[in-house]
Amino acid sequence: MKSFMPPKRTLMGPGPSDVHTRILEAMARPTLGHLDPAFQTMMEEIKEGLRALFGTSNALTFPVSAPGSAGMETCFVNLVEEGDTVVVVKNGVFGERMRENVVRAGGTAVMVDVEWGKAPDVDEVDRVLGEHPEAGILAFVHAETSTGVRADAEALCAVAKKHDCLTIMDAVTSVGGVPVEIDRWGVDAVYTGSQKCLSCTPGLSPVSFSEAALDRVRERTTPVASWFLDLSLVMAYWDGTGGRTYHHTAPVNPLYGLHEALVMIFEEGLEASYARHARMHKALAAGLESMGITFVVDAANRLPQLNAVRVPEGVDEASVRKHLLDAYDLEIGAGLGPLAGKIWRIGLMGTSARQENVELCITALADGLNRHQKNVDGKKALAAARAVLAA
Ligand SMILES: *Cc1c(COP(=O)(O)O)cnc(C)c1O
Repeated sequence: MKSFMPPKRTLMGPGPSDVHTRILEAMARPTLGHLDPAFQTMMEEIKEGLRALFGTSNALTFPVSAPGSAGMETCFVNLVEEGDTVVVVKNGVFGERMRENVVRAGGTAVMVDVEWGKAPDVDEVDRVLGEHPEAGILAFVHAETSTGVRADAEALCAVAKKHDCLTIMDAVTSVGGVPVEIDRWGVDAVYTGSQKCLSCTPGLSPVSFSEAALDRVRERTTPVASWFLDLSLVMAYWDGTGGRTYHHTAPVNPLYGLHEALVMIFEEGLEASYARHARMHKALAAGLESMGITFVVDAANRLPQLNAVRVPEGVDEASVRKHLLDAYDLEIGAGLGPLAGKIWRIGLMGTSARQENVELCITALADGLNRHQKNVDGKKALAAARAVLAA
């Protein structure tokens, strides 16, 4: 075997996003023991940083040592017990995964099915919650990465409270890219991922739980089915108060990376980060629209960090993506489920949300489309994007 040397790509898909060299350098620092006092000090800083990121004072806020899907599972496996009913809003891939999590935890999922590409209708969710007084939880995806839709999290939480339900929110793609304020909105359990708008390497899933959520966990009559994700056990390691005890070996170096990602986002400022994502999205949209490419989602419900656009008529989407990768070292995402073959998903997440990437994507897509005789004017598209950034 020889050492693996990855090609240098630009990552503009649905995640992972480009990882800043500062984060990679942080991860290359010497490994400490996971109970080393210096490491524990860093863990406390990560917890503080995550609280600021989520907009919460929740004591139980920490990164699960596994990818976003494990953060999702942590929420469901701890909060859902045999016989519980959960109302799940589904408008893409991740709502379906929530349903599977509910069922596997022994619960019943009542689905609110929303057309892919559309935002959840809050009145409809209100109506379904009204029809199911036995439901104890409302689960929804804040930023649906499969479609590029942003849900009105604040309004969904308000209807959940009206019906005495806890809320579980998927914030994997939203955190860092658009405002997330879980205390103000009243989210009870939330999970995100390291590799989207935080621009860290994949494999960590920050989570946070309200006191009401923890009460629900304490009231359980059966043990949590997952040993690894059982909050009562994990807490003994992440909670600094009672003296830390061994639960599992924390992924020490990836946590250095997450720490550096938090340092970077607070250096920039959360508001500035959201504004940068919005600006880069506007520039990209101006360039793509000048080439005749249209968006799947209405402007009002669009995520700046995930641009779902329609593949023009007569274009083989996979061959264009392959050309982008081969000729430009540029990765963009394909459509999933009912949108497979019909859309591209262009990520502007974290470090990837920068002018250089917007320009590369426009240039490369114009070339790709012209190879399909689309006669688009790449220079004009680039000028349209630059005009937005100059304003
Ligand atoms: C990426 C993603 C996940 C899963 O994260 P992994 O790190 O891939 O496990 C969950 N929900 C949403 C909305 C995502 O975009």
